[in-house]
Amino acid sequence: FASNASGKEKTLAMIKPDGLSGNYTDRIKNLISDSGFTICKERIIQLDEESVMSFYAEHSSRSFFGSLVKYMTSGPVLLMILEKENAVADWRALIGPTDASKAKVTHPHSIRALCGLDSEKNCVHGSDSPQSAQREISFFFEEKISGRIVPKHDEL
Ligand code: ADP
Ligand code: MG
Repeated sequence: FASNASGKEKTLAMIKPDGLSGNYTDRIKNLISDSGFTICKERIIQLDEESVMSFYAEHSSRSFFGSLVKYMTSGPVLLMILEKENAVADWRALIGPTDASKAKVTHPHSIRALCGLDSEKNCVHGSDSPQSAQREISFFFEEKISGRIVPKHDEL
């Protein structure tokens, strides 16, 4: 699934609430196409707590979990399926490390350095493996997740 016959691979990218409210969408999309990714599908959704808790279930015992759920439900997110060769690893490389404040020093050209703030508000998500990509793409594009679909033409 994650890699097809032509060698292309898919990954799940998300512009998180701070990325959308900070008007970083166009700049991020330009970086996406300049880096050779195709956007196969996209949707904007206002996630609810249940969806975020399920999406980030692996972090449910962490001290930051409550705050993460609050952050991720604070506004709509833009979900994209990106495709290219080596999409999973290349998108992770393009977004940079989790802690955006550190990214500004160590990976100044990364997306998280460009528009993120700290270890929580880091403006974008990327699947961390082909297995995660498969799970996350079905989670957001094939299952009936709970949350409000925001029409794409809405001004955000
Ligand atoms: P990544 O998004 O780089 O894969 P993780 O999977 O470790 O990072 O964490 C998921 C999300 O949880 C991060 O993108 C970030 O928004 C938040 N997060 C991670 N670590 C922390 C932390 N130490 N404090 C606050 N929020 C965090
Ligand atoms: Mg992760």
